[in-house]
Amino acid sequence: THCVGFQLADEAATVQMGNQLAMLMEQGAVIYLHGDLGAGKTTLTRGVIQGFGHQGKVKSPTYTLVEPYELTTANVYHFDLYRLGDPEELEYMGIRDYFSPTAICVVEWPEKGGEFIPAPDLDITLRYVGDARAVEIQSISPRGHSIVDKLKN
Ligand code: ADP
Ligand code: MG
Repeated sequence: THCVGFQLADEAATVQMGNQLAMLMEQGAVIYLHGDLGAGKTTLTRGVIQGFGHQGKVKSPTYTLVEPYELTTANVYHFDLYRLGDPEELEYMGIRDYFSPTAICVVEWPEKGGEFIPAPDLDITLRYVGDARAVEIQSISPRGHSIVDKLKN
């Protein structure tokens, strides 16, 4: 795996990080987001989704589990599995159909999904550093490695 880390001084920096990721992502990319409540997972996702051209708000899909953004540049699916009871529920909602080779999937609380969600290209962890945040981006796949390598330069 390849790894890179950044300090995120404020909310705008977290959004900017998401924008940057969007620019480097290819269709079919899967991103896992780890971190405590309030660590900035949804904020980073907003940066990704807006990076793909979405103009409006990005709401947390805590109760619906997934929020689709079918944009001209990509279909982006934002998952938040925090409230998921049984990972088998993901089968019933047709989880496989979302993880298509043309979609971009961003998953908050992937650990709640168990074996039912595909492995990620990037495994991202957000942490509190005082009032600010830090992000650590680890790549799992060749496609992920190329994103991390570009972020290092
Ligand atoms: P999560 O989805 O991880 O629960 P959210 O993104 O919903 O977290 O909330 C993160 C909170 O932290 C928001 O209030 C946001 O404004 C703030 N925030 C995001 N990034 C930073 C940062 N780099 N520094 C300080 N505050 C941040
Ligand atoms: Mg969230």
